Amino acid sequence: MIRLQRLQRRLFTSSSRAALNRRTVPRAVDSCDVLIVGAGPAGLAAAIRLKQFEREAGSSSQSLRVVVLEKGSEVGAHIVSGCVLEPRALYDLLGPDPSQYEEIYGCGEPPLGVKATESRMVWLTEKSKYPIPHPPQMNNQGNFVISLSALTRWLGRIAEEYYGVEIYPGFAGAGVVFSDEEYQSPWVGWEGRWNREVTRIAIQSPQPPPRVPAVLGILTNDVGIPKHPSTTTNYEPGMFFRARATLFAEGAHGSLTKTLINKYHLRKESDPQTYGFGVKEVWRLADDNPLYSPGSITHTLGYPLDLNTYGGGWVYHMDNHLVSLGLVVGADWENPYQSPYRDFQMMKHHPYIHRLLSPSTRIAYGARVLTEGGLQSLPLLHFPGGALIGDSAGTVNVAKIKGVHTAMGMGILGAQGVWEGCNSGSSHPIDTSTYTTSFLSSWIHTELHETRNLRPSFSSPVLSKRNLSVLGGVLYSGVDSLLLKGRTPWTFRHTKNEEERRACLDGGRSLDSIRTGTSTSHTPIPYPPFQPPLSTDLLTSLMLTGTSHAEDQPEHLRVLGRPGDTPLSSHTDFGGAESVLDVKLSEIHEEGTPETENTEIVPRVTSPPSLRRTHVKTNISDYAGLLSRACPAGVYEYIDDDDDTHHHHHHSPTDGEPGGSDSQDESWNGKKLVINAQNCIHCKLCDIKVPSQDITWTVPEGGGGPKYTVT
Ligand SMILES: Cc1cc2nc3c(=O)[nH]c(=O)nc-3n(C[C@H](O)[C@H](O)[C@H](O)COP(=O)(O)OP(=O)(O)OC[C@H]3O[C@@H](n4cnc5c(N)ncnc54)[C@H](O)[C@@H]3O)c2cc1C
Ligand code: SF4
Repeated sequence: MIRLQRLQRRLFTSSSRAALNRRTVPRAVDSCDVLIVGAGPAGLAAAIRLKQFEREAGSSSQSLRVVVLEKGSEVGAHIVSGCVLEPRALYDLLGPDPSQYEEIYGCGEPPLGVKATESRMVWLTEKSKYPIPHPPQMNNQGNFVISLSALTRWLGRIAEEYYGVEIYPGFAGAGVVFSDEEYQSPWVGWEGRWNREVTRIAIQSPQPPPRVPAVLGILTNDVGIPKHPSTTTNYEPGMFFRARATLFAEGAHGSLTKTLINKYHLRKESDPQTYGFGVKEVWRLADDNPLYSPGSITHTLGYPLDLNTYGGGWVYHMDNHLVSLGLVVGADWENPYQSPYRDFQMMKHHPYIHRLLSPSTRIAYGARVLTEGGLQSLPLLHFPGGALIGDSAGTVNVAKIKGVHTAMGMGILGAQGVWEGCNSGSSHPIDTSTYTTSFLSSWIHTELHETRNLRPSFSSPVLSKRNLSVLGGVLYSGVDSLLLKGRTPWTFRHTKNEEERRACLDGGRSLDSIRTGTSTSHTPIPYPPFQPPLSTDLLTSLMLTGTSHAEDQPEHLRVLGRPGDTPLSSHTDFGGAESVLDVKLSEIHEEGTPETENTEIVPRVTSPPSLRRTHVKTNISDYAGLLSRACPAGVYEYIDDDDDTHHHHHHSPTDGEPGGSDSQDESWNGKKLVINAQNCIHCKLCDIKVPSQDITWTVPEGGGGPKYTVT
């Protein structure tokens, strides 16, 4: 760590406009064997497994340098989950008896919370609840009710202290470095096979390019770029972490993963991904609360969601008088007036939950998207020099509402693929396709295959016209999971409309955004006022997340226009579809080597005013400013533009966009967009849901964001 800090802390202070170009600036380079982006359950399981392979191979093998980068200020700081843990993959990784973990690994008792005692499912109406049959996948025997943030922190200690993995929190992966040479496409041998054996949907897909570059590692985020154009900067370029293999474990909707999926056409034989959006809180019950029942697990359907919105709630009784409760809403919700945050606040006033929580204290709040597409939406998993593991690929078992066991399982398989690649004698790039092959015969594939039809059965177009989608899905899921156990010859698609699918795959739009209806076809929802302490406004909740970001940095939520739009100006590093730095090895200047190119601009990142205006126009006139309701952190506001001097003040005429002062105007019809980026809790919803699909989530300076501990 010390070594890294020394490398990173070099300040580039420039006092004139002759400054640095982000593409050509000298960067510190650090080489390792395996680089893992993201210290979630998938990334940590992979890191540990690699070190286990190394130990098993004995002293004959050279030491394997495994580096894990995590954008949170510490491991676990950005982790949000329910969480009921199915321990299968944990046992595979660390041994079958958790009571021995402390003795074996010396990193303290595993934070496994409490053993599941009972689980049930209920249908909520506004005032009552009715038990409903419990699908067999929801049987929680042998599972644990835990805090995933705490478990991840503990796994991080095992990786670091016991196995010698290097973990660097506060380092965000901001760009991918590709080779100049091209290698065989990852689709060779998988063409036609992926849809036949995995996604099970008949798809005609165009030929991928025969030769592609390999992943050589990643760039961490540059820091010290000022928020507003400025002539001085304390710019510290990010580092180039170079690796023989890079595993992407960014969780749902990873920002680098998104680029890789496009670059290698990894979803060419799959359906688009579809997401759920979860909002959760943790409450501490009074010591003598008679309703507290540690290990009890309840899932709810119905209230507060209508019969056309997929989703449901949970109430998990944790240890230490804590209760985890939350609501997951399918991100394909139609009504732009809907606010999942307010739905969840309403849910707490249901008599069943209200009674449980009186009296008690709220101690945590968080939100995050989760992948729901399952098998049909799985991209091809490997590419030259790397692979996707865990929710970066999208392995949540939606029927179980669990993804930790599958994420860890994929991490273990990914590690094995990389280990085999490292030892196959070939030099760069490592072929990780054995990972994909072993996934096909794994229990993870079996699980996802069995449950593949449950989520899409909730989006039947016929039932949705009658506003009965949810009932159809519940009925279908009941029959499929209880009687047929997924042994059906059919596989439901997330979209049968080839045009829609192409808009997602080639046009870079999300299926969930396409499903969003306009404000003219829906009516505003009369949410009841908040009643503290049970329900509160958003900013009060947000205080519990400990979120902070360095103030003087560009907004990491970028209004970039739609993917495929032409970059606006060569004077910005980002424009059009370019959301992450995507560079070739030959473009990287290693520190200490002479610069070949004279650079001319102060590095900066801008959201051009004209794009902001187009954004406001579409989102206000057609979607009633959806993001101001959907974002769980109040980041987006559409405010009246009465202060006419305000925006001119912020955007100088040199603000990256050519054109006269008219195009500087970011407001439309008296409204303009304000992005309170410092509040962002990294849930990734806006990028997925914004109907105009012109906002891209990129990593802010590492170490910013929420500081979760019990979520
Ligand atoms: C509301 C909700 C409830 C859930 N309930 C359950 C449950 O009860 N049981 C269950 O098993 N599963 C549950 N899940 C699913 C489960 O949380 C995920 O499947 C699991 O966490 C996936 O693990 P992962 O390691 O792939 O990704 P994540 O857990 O998302 O971890 C990814 C990590 O990578 C880091 N990262 C991302 N991008 C970068 C970058 N560019 N640079 C550096 N670091 C980066 C993130 O900060 C994070 O720490 C739930 C999910 C949600 C959202
Ligand atoms: S800005 Fe986007 S990623 Fe950040 S909290 Fe809001 S919706 Fe989530």
